Amino acid sequence: MTDFNRTRAQFRLPDGVIYLDGNSLGPLPVAAEQRVARTLTEEWGTQLIRGWNSAGWMTQPRAIGDRVARLIGAPPGSVVMGDTLSIKVYQALAAALALRPGRKVILSDSGNFPTDLYMAEGLIATLGQGHVLRVVEPEAVEAAIGDDLAVLMLTEVDYRTGRLHDMAALTARAHAAGALTVWDLAHSAGALPVDLLGAGADFAVGCTYKYLNGGPGAPAFIYVAPDHADTARPALSGWMGHEAPFAFDRSYRPGEGIERMRVGTPPVIALAALDAALDVWDGVDMADIRRTSIALCDLFIGLVEATCPELELASPRDGTRRGSQVSFRHPQGYAVMQALIDRGVIGDFRAPDVLRFGFTPLYIGADEVRAAVAVLQQVLDARLWDRPDYHRKAIVT
Ligand SMILES: *Cc1c(COP(=O)(O)O)cnc(C)c1O
Repeated sequence: MTDFNRTRAQFRLPDGVIYLDGNSLGPLPVAAEQRVARTLTEEWGTQLIRGWNSAGWMTQPRAIGDRVARLIGAPPGSVVMGDTLSIKVYQALAAALALRPGRKVILSDSGNFPTDLYMAEGLIATLGQGHVLRVVEPEAVEAAIGDDLAVLMLTEVDYRTGRLHDMAALTARAHAAGALTVWDLAHSAGALPVDLLGAGADFAVGCTYKYLNGGPGAPAFIYVAPDHADTARPALSGWMGHEAPFAFDRSYRPGEGIERMRVGTPPVIALAALDAALDVWDGVDMADIRRTSIALCDLFIGLVEATCPELELASPRDGTRRGSQVSFRHPQGYAVMQALIDRGVIGDFRAPDVLRFGFTPLYIGADEVRAAVAVLQQVLDARLWDRPDYHRKAIVT
């Protein structure tokens, strides 16, 4: 059984704060502070350019990719770190489309995160080959898979509602139709067990600043199934994905396997923070995470429904069909969330009316859930949210 008292002690959590937004930005792991300081002074400051070899900076994207791979059911050597998730979505989709020449349809759902859909549209325009992006309701995805499908591009856990797709079943359906899959694991990696190899996923991407606690702007990851690793065309053919970057050849030759999905110079300091953040997962059993996360979410839903009748559940009630977050709707959701944050209960708001609460057993327990609901009830009962400053929208909601 995972010792969640041990994992909790590995995070810096400010006094007086109940942090229910690890689904958007994970908190600071204590080890990351020391690790980044060491990278600055002992590596960059002392080794200078030599650090690329002597401190292992150049091999970091693969080494850390292997650590992430263990959390998402991917074999060693199938994941590499770099860039942002938006970039990795573009790269994975471009590679998948190139493996299905002649087919023109990309299928996604209306619960997908806007950037994934924007990147697909931008790619379609750039390719100019007549691809179309078909966006259907999440429940209609399976029925929309047809013989014209090139790529099924989905985010496993809906960022707004937490609804969870059945990755294995939808991947099997897509394959039966002759299509490939691109799975976005932004709200899955570190939130629930993922079995990319078992599900037969072709490509997967994800970020590391949410449930993996890598810090704001932490680098993204990309997974390519072993079957495609040596045939996938990387699309963003940067020098770090070249077979021999330091040969400085005039012609591009893709690197071996997942190496080709690297683009440019790795973000060494950000990767150092992420590497330290991943230490938290040593000794953590993802089945324990899942069981406890469902219990925390169920507890939250039960207490909110018993005490806050103004709120309407926007997440699936069945814990096995949710990720690790719970969302409720309220017409004044933004102001309600600002009032909550002002009282130390930090969640976030997603337009038009969704209050989002993330629960991760790494540092949240039943006591925090109860305390958070008590504050929420107080905010709603006394209409504490109805203050002009709580209605003023900030840049980030
Ligand atoms: C958080 C999130 C992103 C963010 O992309 P960035 O390039 O890291 O800003 C993209 N897609 C999904 C599904 C997300 O949840």
